[in-house]
Amino acid sequence: MASRAVYTLTRSRKLASFRRPVLPSASRKYATASSSDNFINIVEVGPRDGLQNEKSIIPPATKVELINRLGKAGSKIIEAGSFVSPKWVPQMAGTAEVVTAMDKLSGVTYQVLVPNEKGLENLFALLAKHPDSPPIDEIAVFTAATDAFSKANTNVTVAESLEILGRVTRAALDKGIRVRGYVSVVIDCPYSGKVTPARVRDVTKALLDMGCYEVSLGDTVGTGTPTTVGRMLDTVIGVNPVRKLAGHFHDTFGMGVANALTAVSAGIRTIDSSIAGLGGCPYSPGATGNVATEDILYALQGSQYSVPGDLEALVETGFWISDKLGRDNSSRVAKAIRARKEREKGEKAKL
Ligand SMILES: [Zn+2]
Repeated sequence: MASRAVYTLTRSRKLASFRRPVLPSASRKYATASSSDNFINIVEVGPRDGLQNEKSIIPPATKVELINRLGKAGSKIIEAGSFVSPKWVPQMAGTAEVVTAMDKLSGVTYQVLVPNEKGLENLFALLAKHPDSPPIDEIAVFTAATDAFSKANTNVTVAESLEILGRVTRAALDKGIRVRGYVSVVIDCPYSGKVTPARVRDVTKALLDMGCYEVSLGDTVGTGTPTTVGRMLDTVIGVNPVRKLAGHFHDTFGMGVANALTAVSAGIRTIDSSIAGLGGCPYSPGATGNVATEDILYALQGSQYSVPGDLEALVETGFWISDKLGRDNSSRVAKAIRARKEREKGEKAKL
């Protein structure tokens, strides 16, 4: 145990210079950007951000199968669940069971959301049971750009939440677990309206300063446009290194792909997306799910950017989970690919 503790501490200090290819195969893999300048990392948030906002409660076995299917379809970073109290978010009950039962594919990073110290304690208890094969590589913590949203979501102001997250982040880093940060409502807040980009810049900086390796900027309401997203990014990138930022766009107004491409043009290389566009936001009435993973992959096909994932296999996975949830598949690309396949099948049958 002692040698492992020393090892992980050394690793956490070296993270800034980390490059995946030089890792020995037995090492833990981190979701650090690829060394290629044109590689787009996709953080698949469907099993957490997606499912937590779906109306139906999904059995752990289905979540496990979703995560496994995503990994097999080429997702490299998967947000697998949340150590939030099931009283707050009943959809996330059973996360410990899910992350213990899921496959841990080599080359795939598995994250869980941890809202507070209680959640971290639960995660540590789980990790203590699996000292040789930790089911989780990283955690994510979240705050918001407005006090009104933060209060509605977690009952504390942004400043109070940063204090809590500072403690959570330190404790996680001490154990060699990397921490990703989320800022919600970076464009509009459902309670207090337009969000000042300077506020997003400052909250982002606070998360990076406390030790988050990356901060994901969330247009939680999904009202952003390439213009407002571009303006926000100009301000945020002025102070924070662009390679430590990620874009997280909900697709409420159908701008998800356009906003993600705006972020990529601004130099961001990590995009959060959700299989079949799963999700919504309970604190943001009317908001739909994240931009669909299938749509992002399709948009980047043939571009100068490379992106991991097998589009056809992801489309199948998206329909599979949509059927399980009894919902429509929100990915336009997935629907178009399926329609094309059915047409082709019909034509073959006529021959
Ligand atoms: Zn989201």
